Amino acid sequence: MKGSRLAELITFLVNGHGDEEILRVSNVLLKGEAEERRIAEAANLKLQLVRRALYRLHENHIVRYRKVKDNEKKWYDVFWELDVDGLRMSLRKRANKVIEALTRKLEYEKSNIIYACTSDESHLRVSLEQAAERDFNCPVCGSPLYPSDNGRVVNKLTDVISKLEHIEVVERR
Ligand SMILES: [Zn+2]
Repeated sequence: MKGSRLAELITFLVNGHGDEEILRVSNVLLKGEAEERRIAEAANLKLQLVRRALYRLHENHIVRYRKVKDNEKKWYDVFWELDVDGLRMSLRKRANKVIEALTRKLEYEKSNIIYACTSDESHLRVSLEQAAERDFNCPVCGSPLYPSDNGRVVNKLTDVISKLEHIEVVERR
């Protein structure tokens, strides 16, 4: 099942490593409000699993529900929909945390000379002190560590931070 990007994002907000049930339920809810048995049908999941996913989404303020009493059947039908404001707030909070972490990294990159592996910078990027502790050798491939031009990293970080600051949740279609 191919999930939309927004459904994937919702899943990430609830559970950092993804969750098939939450992904499927989110995909159904993106189409609009639905009664929980309908959600189970559309998501092709057992009602119990759908409820568990919905409660977890609710804990995260991403969905809301209303109960409708069915006089003939004597039970409540529960209708669920995405809480767009709640979702926006959850996303904002998550984005702010990432921004904080990236800003700390950016400050570090700006104010320190970074030593990196000469063969592949993704192997290691450390301070002078940490490079000295390793005798200026890359722990991955053994290449020497040299002061790196961190302009590219600084630009990349600045760009990602700016994108996160302007992130917006698209309106539900
Ligand atoms: Zn290396």
